[in-house]
Amino acid sequence: MSQPQAKLRVLLIEDQRAMAENIWEFLEMQGQVMDHAGDGSSGLALALANAYDVIVLDLGLPRLDGIEVCRRYRAQGKTAPILMLTARDRLEDKLLGFEAGADDYLTKPFELRELAARIQVLHRRLQRLSPALLRAGPLVLDLASRSVTRDGQPLTVSPAGLRLLAALMAKTPNVLLYADLAQALWGDSDHDAARLHTHVSLLRAAIDRDFEQPLIQTVHGFGYRIAPPAAT
Ligand code: CA
Repeated sequence: MSQPQAKLRVLLIEDQRAMAENIWEFLEMQGQVMDHAGDGSSGLALALANAYDVIVLDLGLPRLDGIEVCRRYRAQGKTAPILMLTARDRLEDKLLGFEAGADDYLTKPFELRELAARIQVLHRRLQRLSPALLRAGPLVLDLASRSVTRDGQPLTVSPAGLRLLAALMAKTPNVLLYADLAQALWGDSDHDAARLHTHVSLLRAAIDRDFEQPLIQTVHGFGYRIAPPAAT
């Protein structure tokens, strides 16, 4: 390959030890900076705690399967591209993966060189899209600096509020169900309705209190959405 290779920070979530070691060594030899998790829940924790350029995610994992890791990661408004590894070449698995927010998949067994090439492609694609900014009408959330502005005016939003806001803005103007919001807040779709409403009220105060047009809308019995005035 003659194309210049970017040096990337890659998270590998794979439980098969030999497979993980092969991938790790190959990518590290290519200059990538590698992190590894051997199960779904520690993989998700690493993915949420650090900024990765690409996440390589095995589908069948102990403790939390790959689909669920992907879904929970995206529910937090996180945008690193995800390449899913699947042992089965079944259409249903791929569709499930894409629905959960995976960007690409590779069926085992695969050539390590192909994996490396796909990682580079995903990274370049993301750079072009540059999704570090989420927008909903006058509201802008910069995921890198975790800052929020409305009509260019900086707003103070709590860390929990930022997680809610990122989830809502990533789906704007669609409704997020209570379970999705609980997932974004606590990484768990089981929710305490009263606590959830409290967080939404706080976020509302931060986003809407000083403005005429409310952006956060209640959809009774379902959840909430953020809809800019033009889209209502
Ligand atoms: Ca596996």
